[in-house]
Amino acid sequence: CGIVGYIGGKQAQSILLEGLSKLEYRGYDSAGLAIYNGQQLNVEKSKGRLKDLETKLETSGLQGSLGIGHTRWATHGKPSDENSHPHVDHDGKFAIVHNGIIENYIELKEELIAKGYQFTSQTDTEVLAKLLADHWDGGLLSTVQKVVARLHGAYALGVISEYEPDKMIAVRYASPLVVGIGEGENFIASDIPAILKHTRNVYIMEDGEMAVINEAGVELMTMDGTPIKRESMRVTWDI
Ligand code: GLU
Repeated sequence: CGIVGYIGGKQAQSILLEGLSKLEYRGYDSAGLAIYNGQQLNVEKSKGRLKDLETKLETSGLQGSLGIGHTRWATHGKPSDENSHPHVDHDGKFAIVHNGIIENYIELKEELIAKGYQFTSQTDTEVLAKLLADHWDGGLLSTVQKVVARLHGAYALGVISEYEPDKMIAVRYASPLVVGIGEGENFIASDIPAILKHTRNVYIMEDGEMAVINEAGVELMTMDGTPIKRESMRVTWDI
């Protein structure tokens, strides 16, 4: 299971696919991408190997320079196209990738169903996409913070939204995530090899940390938004 995210000036698709291929050692049963094309979020995902996703992308390549990618190791819901990540809300305004397990997802799902939300997958992760829509308060960071405050479990998250396409939000709790700092482009990944081709300058996120990642920079903070001052780390080894 793995996460890769990109924001910058290049086309995201090949960067995300290559990054995911470097995370294959972590194991997975399906894979997917969500990329913002300047107008809307588009998603392609597939059960199976990265090659199966790439075959789908041959006809429907995703354009854009903001995106998240995922390889899934199913914990809730069988491996299938529908259960693959990224997951989106009913209007396709938010896309999210998740590694880990949301322990209280059943109660959250029941609450959302009672409000009229419909679910298309069996995953714990889909509740996060719907919660983002339900908790939307006009600001992506504050909305993600509200959603995260409701979660029990383990989660590394990458979130993007059509509402604020100038950023990507990363969250880490009990599931690994690193931020890669580039020149006019930045990255997230489950592990350093996924981004090492692009940068050697990284933040290793710690439990309870979030990051707001723009093209120009990265802000590291606690879950309640308190800024964290930490030197980035220079990776000196090669893959
Ligand atoms: N629990 C999530 C799912 O089953 C994420 C699994 C993962 O870490 O890849 O979809």
